[in-house]
Amino acid sequence: MSKIKKCSKCDAEKDISEFYLDRRKGGKFRAACKECIGKKGLEYRALNKQKRKAYDQKNKERTYKTKKKYTEKNKEKIRLYKKRYYQENKERIEALRKKNNMKKGKTKV
Ligand SMILES: [Zn+2]
Repeated sequence: MSKIKKCSKCDAEKDISEFYLDRRKGGKFRAACKECIGKKGLEYRALNKQKRKAYDQKNKERTYKTKKKYTEKNKEKIRLYKKRYYQENKERIEALRKKNNMKKGKTKV
């Protein structure tokens, strides 16, 4: 026994099997058909993806600006820190550099 139900979204009259059962509403069928709900889900996901991208982009700029500001403010400190770091880790850094150069095919020693 099949029943026909009209979708609230696309206005198409479809077989009841084309509608989802909503358990939260005490076993009633959803007003929109499976196809419309599926589309809505896709749209939502696409929209969310765009939002996420915009958010990342915005944050990226902000992080970059903050970093730049910090670098400018602490130029000397960073330079000294890098120098000291290099002095303290000279061997390790040189070994890493050698390894990286070898990876790139620059095998001049
Ligand atoms: Zn529909």
